[in-house]
Amino acid sequence: MADVAGAPTGRVVLVGGGPGADDLITVRGLDRLLAADVVIHDRLAPTGLLGRLGPGVEIIDAAREPGQRTLTYDEIVALMIDRARVGKTVVRLKGGDPFVFAHGAQEVRSCTDAGIPVEVVPGVTSATAAPVLAGVPLTNTEGAAGFSVVSGHLDPDDRAGRIDWSALSRSGTNLVILMGMRHLPAIVARLIREGIGPEAAAACIADASLPSQRVVRARLGDLPAAVADAGLRNPATVIITPGGRSPGRRVLVLGGSRSGKSRHAEQLLAGEEPVTYVATSQGDPADAEWTARIERHRRRRPTAWATAESPDPAKLIHQAEAGALLVDSVTTWVARVMDDCGCWSPTQPQGADQRLADALDTLVDAWTAASVTVVAVSDEVGSGVVPATASGRRFRDTLGELNQRLAATADEVWLVTAGIPRRLR
Ligand code: SAH
Repeated sequence: MADVAGAPTGRVVLVGGGPGADDLITVRGLDRLLAADVVIHDRLAPTGLLGRLGPGVEIIDAAREPGQRTLTYDEIVALMIDRARVGKTVVRLKGGDPFVFAHGAQEVRSCTDAGIPVEVVPGVTSATAAPVLAGVPLTNTEGAAGFSVVSGHLDPDDRAGRIDWSALSRSGTNLVILMGMRHLPAIVARLIREGIGPEAAAACIADASLPSQRVVRARLGDLPAAVADAGLRNPATVIITPGGRSPGRRVLVLGGSRSGKSRHAEQLLAGEEPVTYVATSQGDPADAEWTARIERHRRRRPTAWATAESPDPAKLIHQAEAGALLVDSVTTWVARVMDDCGCWSPTQPQGADQRLADALDTLVDAWTAASVTVVAVSDEVGSGVVPATASGRRFRDTLGELNQRLAATADEVWLVTAGIPRRLR
C-alpha cells in the first residue's frame, strides 16, 4: 500500500494473545504475530511466544521501555504509527482480548485517524479463561443464567465508579471481576451489603493458564482473607457464583513409601463426616502380602468411614455431594491405568498414549471441579526408584506431571518425609 506521498504504508494488527499460555493464542493471532516486523507487547501478553520471532523483528516491551519505565498510552500509539508509516507491519500484542479492559478501541481510533489500516484479532479473555481453567463454570442450568464481567480497579464506594453494584448483586448472574485485587475486601463487603450471601461460592485465580497458576476457593465472606493468606497476587481474576454449590477443598499429600503420607492424610480428615475412602487398587487374592497391607490400612481408619473400591476415582469425585473423599493413592491408580492402557508392555498397543492422556485429563477435571473435600495421596517417585525401563521411566514422568497438575489447583499441598509433614501451600 502507498500513501499520497508515495511512501509505503504498513499496518497495525491488534492481537489478543489469550491469558498467558503460549498455546491459548488463536491460530490467526499467531499467524499475524509471526508475520510482524515490529511487536509491541504488554506485560500480560504471552511473552513466551516472542522467542519464535525472527532475529530481525523489533520487540518493544510496552511495560518496561525505554529505560525501565512503562510507556504511556500516547507513546505506544506514536510508536505504532511511526513504524507503520515506514511500511512496517506492527503487531500490538495484548493479554486476553484487545477489547476487554485493554484500550484496544482507542488504539484503533488513533491509527485510523492517522490513516493507518488496522486489523483486530480477538483473543481468549482471562474473564472466561481463568474461571474455566479453575473448573468454575461461567453459567449453569440450575444456577446462573449468565455472567457479568466488571472491572474492580476502583473502590466500589468511590463516587467516580460507574458500576451499579446493587443491580449486579440482584442480577442473578455470576460475577467475574478483573483488576479487583487491590479493592477485594471493599468489593466483597459491598456485595454482601447489597444482598449476596456471604456463603456464596467464590474463587480467585492468579496466573491462569501459566505453570504458576494458583486458585483459592472460599465462601464469599472468607475470600479476601483466604486470598491474603495464600499470598495470591496480580494478575488475578475473581469469580463469584451466588447460586453455586459451596466449593470443595482439594488437598494433595505427597511423600515416598512409608513416609507417613497416608496416615497424615487420614489425620487431615479427622472430624470430617462422612468420609469415603477411595481405594484405587484392587486386592489380589493371589497376593497375600498386598491383601495384608490393605487390611492393615483399613483397620487404622475410623470405623465410620465408608470404603469405595473403584478404578474410577473421577466418577466418585463428580458424584459426591457431601462429606469428604480420601483417594489413596494416585500412585496405584496411575499404575493401574497404565496397565489398563497397555502402557507397561514394551510394545505399546495402538492408542495407548491417548487412552492414558484421556484418563489423566478426566481425573484432573474431576479434581478441579470437586464440590466436596478431596484429599489425594500421591508419591514422589525419583529415578532409581522405578525400573530403568521405558515403561518405568514413563510411569515416573506421568506421575510427576500428574502431581504438578493436581497441585496447580490444590488448596493445600503437603510433603511428608520420614514421618514429618510439611505444608508447602
Ligand atoms: N484484556 C485482558 C484484560 C486486561 S485487564 C483480557 O481480556 O484478559 C488485566 C486484568 O486481567 C488483570 O488485573 C486480571 O484481573 C486479568 N488477568 C489477565 N491475565 C490473567 C491471568 N493470566 N490470570 C488471571 N487473571 C488475569
